[in-house]
Amino acid sequence: MEQSRIRKTVIVGGGTAGWMTAAALAKILQGKCCEIELVESDEIGIIGVGEATIPQIATFNRTLGLDENEFVRRTKGTFKLGIEFVNWGQVGDRYIHPFGPYGLDMEGVSFHAFMLKHHARDLTCQTAEQYSLQAVAARQAKFMRPVNAGNSPLSKIAYAFHFDAGLYAKFLREQAEMRGVKRTEGKVVAVNQKAESGFIRSVTLESGTEIEGDLFIDCTGFRGLLIEQTLNAGYNRWKSWLPCDRAAAVPCEKADTLLPYTRSTAHKFGWQWRIPLQHRTGNGMVYASDFVSDDEAVSTLMANLDGKPIAEPRIIRFETGHRKKFWDKNCVAIGLSAGFIEPLESTAIHLIQSGISKLLQMFPDRNFRQADIERYNRVTTFEYERVRDFIILHYHATQRTDSDFWNHCRTMPITDYLQDKIDLFRGYGRVFRENEELFNDTSWFSVMLGQNIRPEGYDAVADVLDAQETARRLDDIRNVIATAADYMPTQADFIAQNCAAEDLSPAM
Ligand SMILES: Cc1cc2nc3c(=O)[nH]c(=O)nc-3n(C[C@H](O)[C@H](O)[C@H](O)COP(=O)(O)OP(=O)(O)OC[C@H]3O[C@@H](n4cnc5c(N)ncnc54)[C@H](O)[C@@H]3O)c2cc1C
Repeated sequence: MEQSRIRKTVIVGGGTAGWMTAAALAKILQGKCCEIELVESDEIGIIGVGEATIPQIATFNRTLGLDENEFVRRTKGTFKLGIEFVNWGQVGDRYIHPFGPYGLDMEGVSFHAFMLKHHARDLTCQTAEQYSLQAVAARQAKFMRPVNAGNSPLSKIAYAFHFDAGLYAKFLREQAEMRGVKRTEGKVVAVNQKAESGFIRSVTLESGTEIEGDLFIDCTGFRGLLIEQTLNAGYNRWKSWLPCDRAAAVPCEKADTLLPYTRSTAHKFGWQWRIPLQHRTGNGMVYASDFVSDDEAVSTLMANLDGKPIAEPRIIRFETGHRKKFWDKNCVAIGLSAGFIEPLESTAIHLIQSGISKLLQMFPDRNFRQADIERYNRVTTFEYERVRDFIILHYHATQRTDSDFWNHCRTMPITDYLQDKIDLFRGYGRVFRENEELFNDTSWFSVMLGQNIRPEGYDAVADVLDAQETARRLDDIRNVIATAADYMPTQADFIAQNCAAEDLSPAM
């Protein structure tokens, strides 16, 4: 066995994906299993967007042993309790997709069933928000970490972060180098394969240096230098369901109130993100080039900033979908080289984390057993497709008729999986989490309700409590949540006391 161990892993690319991979491999393998070298090119640079996350990232940071306050301070980060969606169902609609559950399950029955029973067909997203501490606190710009408070919702606050992606990569680079990862600056100009097997033998840098390895991780971003340009893994394209293919990004000066949530505002041809950091606000317009010109998308973005821009807008082209093979031969693609869904639910960094964790579960030896590779590809495809279906829901569940873009999204054919979710919800508000899909029942419930899909009735099992008892318990839950939110400090105060960045100049 020992004779076939991986002796050297080469990571090509030093963006968020490259450094997350390097830091995690160095920590878990503890420098004992194999040597790790990361090659990156300052000349090419990183994509430099990717600032909003979901709660799972806290687990990744904990695995690396990062102190959370230091991480927030170093990345000029803020806390995130969910996403506010504006104008998605209809122009004028607003709802929060919060982290954490609504209320709590009672008598073994889902809380959603009791909400639907009690509020019947008048249940709105505003009403549902009162049962989520995350949503109530978000509306009041409040934040604190969970504390040990018994059954209080204060002990279960679910949160993620917004951060500066460039600073995060820098922070992780320190961690990785401290644990022995070798960094090499240089542009890869050739990827050399073994003649007989097609496995990657080495990469050659512009300087002429050749770096050999047993395992190669492609973190080169959209270009997929190893996985696609060399191994021709192929790409499954999703444009028929996800029509957006470009983004314009621009930072602006920070606003007076530090909101603890991402905002996503739908426009006639796409949507705009707003991500508050300690020193600036990140903004971007995601749009479909079939429906709008770059000029119009950019001018709409610039007209809808809530602070002075601090850089020129930058246009990024992308193609939603994923590699047909995430892992081929001795090369695993992680990050944008593996695929890209859409930043709408901030899932890309999570998919990096998940790719790393699956790779570690199935860490190969030099035999590169095909069964391991196939399982990795199967599980990763399932994960990408389920996130895709959740994102399609946001576009499809709309009543907007004010543009060709929304008419297209509203009437386009959707995947069978998504149709089944919608049909189940339309009946009795039922939502089931299939296998290990990323988004749970609260997420699906929140977006379907928020975008005006209304169940015809409630789940009969909610009759285990009579109407009076249901009303009493729901009143109690709303009151407990309102009291808990009163107790919380504002996010600005929390950050000032725990993790304020030293330099708050709004530079990129
Ligand atoms: C518009 C947009 C918004 C996004 N918003 C979010 C968000 O809110 N939340 C989220 O989780 N994710 C988001 N993402 C995704 C997120 O940006 C990426 O997942 C993340 O930054 C990882 O990128 P990467 O490291 O794969 O690629 P990159 O950042 O592009 O890094 C590629 C690396 O490869 C190197 N490289 C490339 N070619 C060579 C070569 N020939 N030789 C040497 N080195 C090379 C580059 O120098 C660089 O270091 C967003 C993406 C886009 C496009």
